[in-house]
Amino acid sequence: MEKAKVVIIGSGPAGYTAAIYAARANLEPVLFEGFHSGPAGGQLMTTTDVENYPGFPEGVMGPELMIAFQKQAKRFGTTIITDDVTTIELGSYPYKVQSNKNQFLADSVIIATGAYAQRLDIRGAKDGEFWQRGVTACAVCDGAMPIFRNKDLFVIGGGDSACEEAVFLTKFGSKVYIVHRRDELRASKILQQRAMNHLKVEILWDSIITEIDGSDVVEKVVIKNVKNNVETIREAGGVFFAIGHKPNTRFLNGQLDLHDNGYIIVKPNSCRTSKELIFACGDVQDYTYRQAVTAAGTGCMAAIELERDLSEKGRI
Ligand code: NAP
Repeated sequence: MEKAKVVIIGSGPAGYTAAIYAARANLEPVLFEGFHSGPAGGQLMTTTDVENYPGFPEGVMGPELMIAFQKQAKRFGTTIITDDVTTIELGSYPYKVQSNKNQFLADSVIIATGAYAQRLDIRGAKDGEFWQRGVTACAVCDGAMPIFRNKDLFVIGGGDSACEEAVFLTKFGSKVYIVHRRDELRASKILQQRAMNHLKVEILWDSIITEIDGSDVVEKVVIKNVKNNVETIREAGGVFFAIGHKPNTRFLNGQLDLHDNGYIIVKPNSCRTSKELIFACGDVQDYTYRQAVTAAGTGCMAAIELERDLSEKGRI
């Protein structure tokens, strides 16, 4: 079994930033970038223009940004492994990190596995049906696609994402409907108002989509009012899930303390978790900000804290 001072799991802005800092501190990090679990580079690999990452006044394409992160991590000596970590064993030390093809004994681990957008099990929304042919879970990534132009678009959810994405989609669609299962939005007041005041946005209260249909791409949706059970068929060009994210923590198998919503608990103002020398950064521990720049910031924090802790314990 190979040995490593630091194993980093995840290859979004948090993982690569942690790698840059750990590598520059001569910790020779090993970073698992994932394989089947999603695109190496994380959620930004499926994003187009990133306009809010500082340092890019004209914006930057998500994949371009992540390739630059990766190059920078490699430049200082990060070993990148294209594989998914399947388990980590935290019952004995050094910690054992197991992927499909590799096993490492690690003095410390940084978990930067991010989060994924949730989907609903609606008829027509599955892989092989209209998923990615008009049904998506990321308006910001996919909204500009030609299939959505001048069509009626439907956003499912009642939170900040639903309101923000609905307003964003008004740039492309002829009208945007927010389909919400209750009679009250969960979103912050300011985002609610922005959506409600927009002439092209309408909220369908107490409603759910029960079916998505079309030929090559989405053409219609069936909407059910959950109060009176009346179903209506509407023409549709796209359906966007905005029903929250789930952190990628299953491989931890209950070995770290998690919040009720499944995100990893970190100590206040820190990336330290409930286990010594195990750190968490990026979206896997952040359900509030969820931005590339905050993820990168916590990646930096994790690497600096880890170096201090390893040094205090005389391991480097
Ligand atoms: P969220 O706040 O968890 O909202 C999810 C929405 O989806 C809720 O309205 C929920 O309905 C609905 N939903 C969940 N499961 C559903 C189901 N099975 N069927 C139908 N509807 C379902 O998620 P989010 O909007 O992605 O926000 C996540 C976090 O990011 C929040 O902390 C938010 O403040 C933050 N955020 C901030 C901004 C910003 O400040 N600009 C933008 C986006 C997100 P119920 O209300 O009935 O539970």
